[in-house]
This record gives sequence, C-alpha cells and structure tokens, in this order.
Amino acid sequence: MKRIWVGAVVVLAGVFPASMADAVPIDAAVKKCLEKSVGKSATRSIERAKKLTAKQQRSVDACKRSTAPTTTIPTLPPGTEPIYDLDPALSAADVAKIKEWTTLAITGHQKVFGVQVSTFTNNISRDPVWIANRDCRRHFWTTCVADRTNLFKTNWAMAGCGPSPVQLECYHVANLALFQGEDYLLLKTFVHEVHHIVQYQTHKDYEAGRAPSNTVRGDGPHWLFEGLAEWSAYYIVSDLGRTTMDATRADWRPWAARIPKALSGFETFGGRESFVNLYTLYALAVDELMKLNGNTPKSIITYYQLLGEKNPWPTAFQRAFGMTVQDFYVHFERVRPRS
Ligand SMILES: [Zn+2]
Repeated sequence: MKRIWVGAVVVLAGVFPASMADAVPIDAAVKKCLEKSVGKSATRSIERAKKLTAKQQRSVDACKRSTAPTTTIPTLPPGTEPIYDLDPALSAADVAKIKEWTTLAITGHQKVFGVQVSTFTNNISRDPVWIANRDCRRHFWTTCVADRTNLFKTNWAMAGCGPSPVQLECYHVANLALFQGEDYLLLKTFVHEVHHIVQYQTHKDYEAGRAPSNTVRGDGPHWLFEGLAEWSAYYIVSDLGRTTMDATRADWRPWAARIPKALSGFETFGGRESFVNLYTLYALAVDELMKLNGNTPKSIITYYQLLGEKNPWPTAFQRAFGMTVQDFYVHFERVRPRS
C-alpha cells in the first residue's frame, strides 16, 4: 500500500504573495531614504498610493534594502550546529543566507522560548529534483522522487523529525528558488520551519505526521501546530527588529477575513481545502490565544512538553492555555476578522 508521508514533515503552504509584502507600511528610515533619492513630493505620492507603480516599487525596495537593520549573527554552542547538506550548485551568497537565517532561527528560539534546538540536517537547493533525491533517502515508497519533485516545485519548505531508514533524524528541506520577497519574510519562513523541529524535539511524537489527512494528528489540530509555527516565527522576527507584531497583524487581518469557514473546521490536514493564505487565520487564532493567556509565549513550549508527557492534545491545550479548545473556538468566532 502506498503511504503518503504527510507526517514527520509539515508543509508550509501559507506564504504571502509579493503584493501582501508590499502592504507593510513605509517606516521612518525608508521614508528618509526615499526623500533623499526621489524627493519629497514623489515620496508623498508613494505614501498615498494604494498600489505602487513598478518604478515606485523599485525605489521603495531599494530603500528597504539599504535601511534594513543589520543583525550580528551569534555563534552557536559547540555540538548544536546544524548539518548543511546543501546542493553544491548553490552560490556562495545563497549558502551565506541559508546559514544566517538558520542560525537566527535557532538563536531566536533560544532567546524567546528558552529552548535549545538540537542538530538537524538542512537539504536546500534551487532544484526540486536535487531536493527530492536527497529527501527520498529517508523514505521507502517507490514513487518518492517523482512525488517530492512535484511537491517542491510549488512548496517552499518543510521540516520535522521522523525515523529515517537508519535513525531518528530532524531535517529542514527547502527550495530556495521559490524564496522571493523581502528578507525578513524569507527569514520568517526559516524560523517557521525550525519551529516545527522544536515541536518534534519537545513533544517527541515522531509518528504524529503519519496520521491520515482526515484525522487530527496526535500533536493537535492543523490550525494549531501550523498557527503556532507561523505566530512564533513572526514573534521571533519581530524580536530581531525586522518587523513588528502590529504591522504583522495588520497584514494578517484582511487575508483572514476572506476565509469564511469556522476555525474548528481546520483540525485536519484535509480541512484546509484551497483557501489562500490560510496561515493568516491560524496565526491570528494563536495571537488571540496568547492575548487571552496573558501574552506568555512560553505556554507554547509547555503545550509541547505536556504532549511529551503523553497528555492527549485537548488536555495539553487546556492545561497550557488555560481554557478548553471548545471554549476557545466559541470565543474566536466572536472576535475574528470578517469581510
Ligand atoms: Zn509549517
């Protein structure tokens, strides 16, 4: 029987299209840069524009690049460095970015959540066939390379832990060719994927991902484990000063408002249907959960630890977040954005 591995791996499906990234407001540094490069009146029209012309967009992008905060990349403690099994065809600039984003994802989790991410393998390329060949060393099903090649033609990245043919292994697999957008959004994608590794390394339910797509996984509903990864990624990227949670919420809300289905309908992988930018709704749900819970992000790690102590997910949810998931569903439907 063919077994689809939706499991030890989690597909990142909700990434902003370029137009969404443009909705990020122009900050003071970018405004100053624009005034210098295009003049005050052209800057005013950029600020007022509902949609930027290609020329305006280029000016804004150039200023965003030149004013982007530079972050000192910390060094990782010995023995915790990730393994970089990368496509040799990647450029030195690609490899440098991969290492920067990965390191910031790991140190961000240390700082914000107090967790040490254990070693994991990065298989990253711009070629879906290279990725599929690497990734399929872990899996036995016969159509793996064809399936994975197709998957990575459209899916940016996935990560998790699972039993490989020889040992338990955690990994992040990504197609860098699809990484287009502002640097902080690309960094966010890496942090999201590393958060999935944190989930597995903390709850230790390495079979969670093998659940059929019409059932709720052992580590919780689809909206929750993806929402936690997405929310945590933005929280860490905000902590690094690359964006703010307020700007992020403003980006999430209009997308989430277009999704008419109740949050409780997104407990299974199959429940996703074909909604666009679904993770905005998931992340807003987690944002609300954090708000109700006294803004204590460490409760997220508590949730994974409670799962690791073999509590069923609804029990872990109630103990970590202070309410039943049913009560949360009722509350969230009252406060969520709607179009
Ligand atoms: Zn994900």
